[in-house]
Amino acid sequence: MPDRSCVIIGASHAGVQLALSLRQGGWEGKVLLVSDEPVAPYQRPPLSKGVLDGSKSPDTIALRPEVLYQKSNIEFLLGRRAERIDRENKVVELDDGSHLSFDKLALTTGSRPRTLPLTGHDQEGVFYLRSLADVEQMRPCIDTDSKAVIVGGGYIGLEAAAVLCKLGKQVTVIEALPRVLQRVTAPEVSAFFERIHREEGVNVLTETGVASIGGSGRAEHVMCVDGTEQSADLVIIAVGVVPNIELAAQAGLEVDNGIRVNEFAQTSDPDIVAAGDCTSFYSALYQRHIRLESVQNATDQARTAAASLHGALLPYQAVPWFWSEQYDVKLQIAGLSQGHDNTVTRGDSRQGRSFAVFYFSGDRLLAVDAINRPAEFMAGKRLIADDVVLDKARLRDESIPIKEFLTK
Ligand code: FAD
Repeated sequence: MPDRSCVIIGASHAGVQLALSLRQGGWEGKVLLVSDEPVAPYQRPPLSKGVLDGSKSPDTIALRPEVLYQKSNIEFLLGRRAERIDRENKVVELDDGSHLSFDKLALTTGSRPRTLPLTGHDQEGVFYLRSLADVEQMRPCIDTDSKAVIVGGGYIGLEAAAVLCKLGKQVTVIEALPRVLQRVTAPEVSAFFERIHREEGVNVLTETGVASIGGSGRAEHVMCVDGTEQSADLVIIAVGVVPNIELAAQAGLEVDNGIRVNEFAQTSDPDIVAAGDCTSFYSALYQRHIRLESVQNATDQARTAAASLHGALLPYQAVPWFWSEQYDVKLQIAGLSQGHDNTVTRGDSRQGRSFAVFYFSGDRLLAVDAINRPAEFMAGKRLIADDVVLDKARLRDESIPIKEFLTK
């Protein structure tokens, strides 16, 4: 059926991969990506790394070369927002009132920053960090201002802190929980990141709530709940993301902290798939529904979604992985540490900048946080996928090369 049409809403890591995988799988009909961003798809991770520090020009972060889209006959509708899905008539309504018909629909709408409706949040100098437009708006402040406050000690907040610190700003990170990265790492890893940020000169405040942002039209300081004040001419709010599920919910699809899909990226409608940050998917590996925010998840799940549209059911069961870059530290994470009850560390997290933490539930390896340890990361991924039971005393012993565990 060569004239069948697939509409993909959201043209970022998941949407673009889905389109390309559809073509690679032999889809002959129309493939149209709709994006509410006005620019061609780009890589998001550099926004808090090379693009923020100015070492990478926005022109260099295209997700794929333009010529590949042309060769693959993939069409785009940029700067257009999908407002409503009519499942019965198989039509998507756009923000200019026009309509797109589809035979198959893919939702790759991603996520958006969680907002903090603090008094003063709408002043100049206060930003969120999600899109290229966000960084472009921030650029004049980055070039001129000297004091930055980052609200939120998650990955994006800490990456932004590292960049601004390297650029010579006076940086404060304010985290409401007792430690940075609390939701995703062991105390030892949080302590490491707090240490390196302090070593670099960042003021890290934990267990500190933010009450308001002061200023008269332009941010001047951040007031904390404990009454203290941090002066700031640039404030970045980085307190997590929420999935873009409204379109799916309005269409009557099942949503629950994400568009609910099975391990084949299928929604409750046989003609609609979803992939990426916006989904809560059934993970055969973890035997529960999970929602992930990573490039790996977006692209791998998009491949599964494309296969499902072709009628080939390939379960999405990759071991999740993620990375973060801060100063000279590359953190690579394999697996998910939630639910761990014991850890084993290779190396010393209290000094230097190289170690790895292995997270277990009983004897089952769940995840590895590898800090400047690519070998441990690569091995960890395989050990988790193969469900290998490890001798923890030997694992702790650094004189035994990590690759030995792969062969035993
Ligand atoms: P998104 O990238 O969120 O894309 C969704 C797209 O859909 C957006 O363009 C959105 O505007 C559009 N859209 C939404 N609703 C509509 C609609 N109704 N109509 C039309 N368009 C719509 N991950 C890593 O693995 N490693 C990292 O180091 C890393 N660093 C990051 C740094 C930053 C600053 C950010 C913001 C994210 C980072 N991530 C990182 C996370 C990673 O970028 C995301 O997991 C990934 O972008 C998810 O891709 P996606 O396609 O699912 O969604």
